[in-house]
Amino acid sequence: LKNMQRKMTKESPNSKPYDASKIVVCVRKRPLSKKEKLKSDPDAIKAVDNTVHVFEPKLKVDLTKYTEVHPFTFDVAFDENAKNQDVYNSCAKPLVQAFFDGSKVTCFAYGQTGAGKTHTMMGTPEEPGLYTLALQDIFQMKQKKEYAHLGVYISFFEIYGSKLFDLLNGKKRVECREDAKQRVRIIGLEERLCEDPDQVAKTIEEGGKCRSTGSTGANADSSRSHAILEIQLKYKDSQSENSNESDPSSVYGKLSFIDLAGSERAADTTHSDRQTRMEGAEINKSLLALKECIRALGQNQYHTPFRGSKLTLVLKDSFISADSRTVMIANVSPAASNCEHTLNTLRYADRVKELRKDSSSHRRASSTASFASIDTRTTEVMDSIPE
Ligand code: ADP
Ligand code: MG
Repeated sequence: LKNMQRKMTKESPNSKPYDASKIVVCVRKRPLSKKEKLKSDPDAIKAVDNTVHVFEPKLKVDLTKYTEVHPFTFDVAFDENAKNQDVYNSCAKPLVQAFFDGSKVTCFAYGQTGAGKTHTMMGTPEEPGLYTLALQDIFQMKQKKEYAHLGVYISFFEIYGSKLFDLLNGKKRVECREDAKQRVRIIGLEERLCEDPDQVAKTIEEGGKCRSTGSTGANADSSRSHAILEIQLKYKDSQSENSNESDPSSVYGKLSFIDLAGSERAADTTHSDRQTRMEGAEINKSLLALKECIRALGQNQYHTPFRGSKLTLVLKDSFISADSRTVMIANVSPAASNCEHTLNTLRYADRVKELRKDSSSHRRASSTASFASIDTRTTEVMDSIPE
């Protein structure tokens, strides 16, 4: 982890050939669950230092015979003993610092349903997740005189299909539009001014409950939607009293935490149920678009294909900002029975990492070309992305 922290500072001599402070990719393995242990589902993943080894079962019926798949190397690999605090310290804390320097920063949790995304982001009362840990630090830093003119505003919403729902307002439908200056605004989204960590805790709890209870579609559950917690530092004076409508020019810094839809849902594009198929296609589209936007970010490209999906559209300002930073946490299950999904997650994260490496060369196709290829590939399934 120390190595990782060294890498993540701008002064690091290791920052070539890519700017590691801009995009960081890490993997987190969760512990085996009680159920998995009872079923004698073996632990097929080994995370050591920054490398993940996968022991893939040879046969689905016999999980004890395996072949080792080539290892995957990331910025950090957290094993089952890592706590949310460890993940926070090495991945999200540097983002909080950048946020106070006025940057727009983003942290994604990617992975199959049940891999530990929500545990990482939201956590539990016993083990608070990145949301709470970041906000604790934010309030501590905000006590400094130099930040007295800024307020902490929180929004919490969900993207389900291509629609947006406000989790701080009973899942009220909200619309995302680009204004005359081509800035993306979410019309009617609640932005709650929070004065202390208690108020924040209540806000996060309210949004979290809203996500898991009310339903937005026929068989909606949290695995089919992306949840976005947006923390903004805004100039207090510029906020009009009776409007909760966002004014993009008043934003000093922005920190977005994204608990992505289950990556395996992107493969539901051939499901017999039409609704499930449509949801799968939308998730697939957004995860592909996300990868393309991170690629553009890593290559310092002028054109970022943020219109590839609703998810990337709402993150437009973060993707196009010159000093943005992105952390991708790939959550994986240790169970041998989940090996296929785990490999898919590692391949996706590996691709994000590789795209970042390419940033020093501009030989790749322009992002406009990449965007065109997404459009025609909406039925391409994440699960089939080649290594
Ligand atoms: P996801 O959001 O990716 O679908 P969850 O975060 O809900 O997955 O995790 C699935 C289950 O595994 C939950 O019961 C959660 O508490 C547990 N879990 C996940 N990660 C960890 C971890 N690192 N340590 C302990 N329990 C975990
Ligand atoms: Mg979840």
